[in-house]
Amino acid sequence: MPAISSNKPFRVGRSKTGLGLFATKPIKKGTRIIRYFGPILDSRIKEQDDIENKYLFELNGRWTIDGSVRKNVARYINHSCRPNAESDVRPRERKVFIRAIKNIEPGDEINYDYGTDYFKAYLKPIGCKCASCETKRKKLRAEARAERAKVKARAERKAQKATGKAPAKKKLNGKHFNGKVGRVRG
Ligand SMILES: [Zn+2]
Repeated sequence: MPAISSNKPFRVGRSKTGLGLFATKPIKKGTRIIRYFGPILDSRIKEQDDIENKYLFELNGRWTIDGSVRKNVARYINHSCRPNAESDVRPRERKVFIRAIKNIEPGDEINYDYGTDYFKAYLKPIGCKCASCETKRKKLRAEARAERAKVKARAERKAQKATGKAPAKKKLNGKHFNGKVGRVRG
């Protein structure tokens, strides 16, 4: 792991999906956090165009940053569908900066949206593990669970009706079911 000087407002740390970049100090919305850098590749040169790794950052049709170099600490920043930072791409300068789009608190993981192409190629096939997608998945699972419970309860009520037993809830509901309660017990 590269040594990071302590005046930087971030550190590399463990995240759910491996390593990630975490704020160590408050970072104000709009702040330039770090530069994403590496050798510039020219798509018109075959050997450069042939380079393939998951840290390539395309500036435009011609130029791409190869961010796989060790010194590029920004390569540790993970993708999020609801990020707290963004990539500020400057094709003419051939530079990319990662900039806060929210106020970031110490301990927060720094994320930016990698974009549709990356998402389709790398994340969709395995399922996005970002906090936003995890929350969404959890919610969907909870809803599915609730729906299953509802269906089950309905089926149980039906079955009880069919066998002539009044469901527990109705037994306690005095008035209307007085007669039935007697039948069930008797
Ligand atoms: Zn996601």
